[in-house]
Amino acid sequence: MSLKNKIAIISGASRGIGRAIAVELAEAGANISFNYLHSDEQAKALEEEIKKMNVNARAFKADIKDYEAVRLWVDETRELFGGIDIVINNAGVTRDKALALMDPADWHEVISTNLDGTFNLSRASIVTFIKQKSGVILNISSVSGITGLPRQTNYSASKAGMIGFTKALAKEVASYNIRVNAVAPGFIETDMLKSLKEEHKSRIIEQIPSSRLGKPEEIAELVSFLASDSASYITGQTFVIDGGLSII
Ligand code: NAP
Repeated sequence: MSLKNKIAIISGASRGIGRAIAVELAEAGANISFNYLHSDEQAKALEEEIKKMNVNARAFKADIKDYEAVRLWVDETRELFGGIDIVINNAGVTRDKALALMDPADWHEVISTNLDGTFNLSRASIVTFIKQKSGVILNISSVSGITGLPRQTNYSASKAGMIGFTKALAKEVASYNIRVNAVAPGFIETDMLKSLKEEHKSRIIEQIPSSRLGKPEEIAELVSFLASDSASYITGQTFVIDGGLSII
């Protein structure tokens, strides 16, 4: 899949799935602008690693929850790189708790990172896409947003919201040659799963028909395909990638 000379902007790429997406898109020839919030060293290391792949790369420290910070990041990317072709809404957090014990702060942190963040980056980029009559937006949702998971009312709501956002925006901008799709991973081996106890992880793996967790690189390969012209007639869809977890 070639993404040669494309410019991709990715939220939350210092670690995990976002990092794997940044590397995969760079391998396909795209220039990469990404943001992060805390992981300065990992972000710097990724920027250096990507630059060695003969494409441009730039890490920005910017809170995805903060619209003004995101707008500045997008504007600087446009100036530095000369445009934007691909937006990946990936930054996300969990604050798992039973609803009966969930503080409003846990609810708001998850909704504003995962859902407001998706609005912020998409809103800051969409006018460029409309003017140039092309663009791709990919939203990293979750199986949790499709099936619902206990202790994740905040997270499931945010990820289901991303799927509704994907469908509505896809219809709104298809006539401008802009495609909008979502990817819904199952359980993927990243820091996000670190808080799970080993016995809980084993129980999850028992429920996955493929009998293992997914790898960030497996998500990145699907994202790379959807970002490419090979997916030129696909829009408004959600692609589940979960080793069969959600088969009904
Ligand atoms: P992760 O390893 O915890 O990494 C999260 C990334 O998001 C980090 O780069 C982090 O930056 C960034 N981030 C978090 N809050 C941010 C903020 N306010 N502003 C800017 N960046 C922020 O998570 P992951 O597992 O790779 O998850 C990536 C996406 O996939 C998320 O949307 C998640 O919901 C989704 N997903 C994950 C799984 C899974 O099993 N892992 C399954 C389904 C969907 P810092 O390093 O600076 O904190």
